[in-house]
Amino acid sequence: MENRSSINNIRTLFPALNQRVNGKKLVYLDNGATSQKPLSVIELVNEMNSGVNGNIHRAVHELSAKTTSLYEGARDKVKNFINASQREEIIFTAGTTASINLVASSFSQKYLNPGDAVLVSEGEHHSNIVPWQMACDRTGATLRVLPLDDNGCWRLDLLDTLLDSSVKIVSVAHVSNILGVINPIEKVIERAHSLNIPVLIDGAQGIVHSRVDVQKLDCEFYAFSGHKMYGPTGTGVLFGKYHWLEKLPPYLGGGDMIESVSFEKTTYTQPPLKFEAGTPNFIGMAALGAAIDFILQIDTELASKNEKEIVEYVLKEFSAIEGLTLYGQHSQNKIPLFSFTVKGAHPTDLAMLMDKMGVALRSGQMCSEPVMDRFGTESMLRASFAVYNTLEEAKIFILSLKRAIKMLT
Ligand code: PLP
Repeated sequence: MENRSSINNIRTLFPALNQRVNGKKLVYLDNGATSQKPLSVIELVNEMNSGVNGNIHRAVHELSAKTTSLYEGARDKVKNFINASQREEIIFTAGTTASINLVASSFSQKYLNPGDAVLVSEGEHHSNIVPWQMACDRTGATLRVLPLDDNGCWRLDLLDTLLDSSVKIVSVAHVSNILGVINPIEKVIERAHSLNIPVLIDGAQGIVHSRVDVQKLDCEFYAFSGHKMYGPTGTGVLFGKYHWLEKLPPYLGGGDMIESVSFEKTTYTQPPLKFEAGTPNFIGMAALGAAIDFILQIDTELASKNEKEIVEYVLKEFSAIEGLTLYGQHSQNKIPLFSFTVKGAHPTDLAMLMDKMGVALRSGQMCSEPVMDRFGTESMLRASFAVYNTLEEAKIFILSLKRAIKMLT
């Protein structure tokens, strides 16, 4: 598609990028938190809210037929996008957090008992820690933690000691939201499978920066959010191998997830609807389908060349800034996401100053307090790039950072 042939052309599809913030041209580098949306997504949401709006699955009228077809069409798009073997393996949720909570709740009801364990890593987002802690509290199971090394990489040398028959599920991130490290999930999946342990992958960051093939990965579950991949907020996906989805008890009860209801006994329908109780965000999910269409039109070579250039440039510039500590791997095996601190300058002060220069960054504990503890800091600053960010913006980021540091130290 001609419109996708350069990063600047991609930018023209995103109205939010073309704005001034605090009187400056916006440089949006908080994509790890949420991405901006292309016109195709915005227009579909508008079109549906302005007319193509009828509750799905429930009625015979034309509007319901149209929305049902858009919603179920989006399920097909997700299925093809991640190469699931059947469309029934795609459950629509409100986001990664909702997807992980679904598995943690349903899985623990049936498969966690006192003495059992759940393995996560030290580098997880709170969304992949707290649901499992809640499940452990309910069942008497315990949480085991695979530690990180000083580069933010998993201590794979400890995996064999941590994985034994008491571990009933492994739940780890594809890519760390703080360290940007692309984790060796294939190795963990293989090792867990050798002990018949199922694996959930938190793909909130991973799905944005790589093409995921769930059949090749062979993971039992893969969770991700729509709003980080150019889709609407309140949308997400849980991929689950069908035989697992069949075995798990339902999560929420309500309309659409039942086969028959009586006061004596209710029976449940098959996946995926078994896990989609109530009216879902059908407009959002249809627009997630449009976001996937957008991603599929991106020239992957162009995008990965751009990402590599940005990573190389930022790493080089960071190494020359006195007092700057970058957390996570200082190599190319990372997504363009950089969390750092600068000696003598509080991350929030730096973020506020840079906001005045038009550069939007994330600061704070980034929903991952254990990582903060691991690296001995209470707060960090994070710059995270998306497909529409240019090398020129990376240069403005570095220039603004240097100016802000000078003002504060
Ligand atoms: N997991 C990771 C790795 C994340 O980066 C995030 C969000 O930043 C989440 C889970 C939670 O995603 P959401 O808030 O969209 O549910």
